[in-house]
Amino acid sequence: MDKVDVIVVGAGLAGAAAAYSAAKTGAQVVLAERGARAGAKNLSGGLLYTHGLGKLFPEFWKEEPTPVERAISRNVLTLLTPKQATSIDFYDQSFAEPPFNSFSILRSRLDPWLVGKAESAGATAVYGSRVDGLVREGGKVVGIRLGEEELRADVVVVAEGFNAVAARSAGLEGELSPDTVGIGVKQVIGLPPGEIERRFQLRGIEGFQLTATGLPAGVEGGGFLYTNRDSLSIGMILNLGSVVRHEVAMYEVLEEFKQHPYLSRYLDGGTLLEYSGCVVNEAGLDSVPALFGDGYLLAGSAAQLFLNTGLNLRGMDFAIESGRLAGEVAAEASREKTTGAGFLARYRERLATSFVLRDLETHRRYPQVFSNPRLYGLYPEMMGALLHQAYFVDGSERQHLNAALKRVRQGKVSCLTLGRDLWKTMRTL
Ligand SMILES: Cc1cc2nc3c(=O)[nH]c(=O)nc-3n(C[C@H](O)[C@H](O)[C@H](O)COP(=O)(O)OP(=O)(O)OC[C@H]3O[C@@H](n4cnc5c(N)ncnc54)[C@H](O)[C@@H]3O)c2cc1C
Repeated sequence: MDKVDVIVVGAGLAGAAAAYSAAKTGAQVVLAERGARAGAKNLSGGLLYTHGLGKLFPEFWKEEPTPVERAISRNVLTLLTPKQATSIDFYDQSFAEPPFNSFSILRSRLDPWLVGKAESAGATAVYGSRVDGLVREGGKVVGIRLGEEELRADVVVVAEGFNAVAARSAGLEGELSPDTVGIGVKQVIGLPPGEIERRFQLRGIEGFQLTATGLPAGVEGGGFLYTNRDSLSIGMILNLGSVVRHEVAMYEVLEEFKQHPYLSRYLDGGTLLEYSGCVVNEAGLDSVPALFGDGYLLAGSAAQLFLNTGLNLRGMDFAIESGRLAGEVAAEASREKTTGAGFLARYRERLATSFVLRDLETHRRYPQVFSNPRLYGLYPEMMGALLHQAYFVDGSERQHLNAALKRVRQGKVSCLTLGRDLWKTMRTL
């Protein structure tokens, strides 16, 4: 094979969705993956909002074996200090009923399932194939380089994840900056299903997810804890620049998070099954590169499609939707033998009307608002101190809450700054 209709670089969620939607229309598709199997090298927290995958496979949760873990019905947001946790605990039974809001997932199960769908539709997945670069002729991308070999295609869909080496070396993306990169670490801890249900007060397929901030104090970012069927996923994403400035080590920070008295009770007696790390883009819409050009399209994390508002961590639904649209447009371009940027621009147009670019536009200001260090140190501390005063009774003189608030914030933050931060955060979420 020297030439096919569509080549997809990377068999993550974006790549598998692209390969599936292109192959479904009859296009000849090659899906090149550097890992030995799908999902071998992929990392997500992972909480998957169902709507994107539901467009491709309505009622995918009914499939056997199921590609998903638990339907998240309890969502918890927590502010931590070393000995305290202030939480909003939101339970919604409708989230655990079809069509479901989100599922916890494990990439080692979800990715092979989705690639299997692409293969059933006719795509050819080639594992152990690291794409070293893109072949360009007269400025147009016409194929990929795999070591000494070249494979050509009408359109190349680049879906190689955030650290897009092939795309970057071909000049399709800009350079990264430490202040807009997040470093993620994650562990999977095995626990029996009954124990998970007891500890997190869950029934049947219900699941729990927690996002937390405040540890270590002042470092931008936060941690997460998700329940799977028979394991927990726990991890953190912290801003690289902030990690360097505070001179903290990621593995130490994760240990501190796991040993927090509020969280360690959930993990007690669990068995470490996996440990992985990865980087993500945290610059939002402003960092999204040109999503298309002559002969190519960018999808998923390779297109920097990621959003972390503290309440919602999203990258997988963006990857699936952008992959689906990229595969669709690549197949149309190949069929009509017009693979220039003029035709491929319809990918950008479709993304612009999809939830992907709309939601990134809605939360456009999140990188500026969430680079505020008060959110990661001072405010969790103030919240803990305020509630400590409210609940602690020892016979000394009581204070009304407004007086207690004045006392905990005095000399640390003015009312104006506090109000402004609150307003900006609400406006961004
Ligand atoms: C710690 C952490 C937690 C996260 N939690 C969540 C979450 O809870 N919910 C959520 O929605 N998102 C989450 N994300 C984001 C999510 O993981 C990404 O948005 C998603 O993985 C993007 O999918 P993708 O297919 O674009 O890229 P990837 O999943 O990175 O897949 C890229 C694929 O390309 C392959 N590849 C790379 N380079 C090459 C090459 N040169 N040649 C061939 N193959 C190549 C890789 O092996 C991989 O299979 C999290 C990210 C991190 C780091």
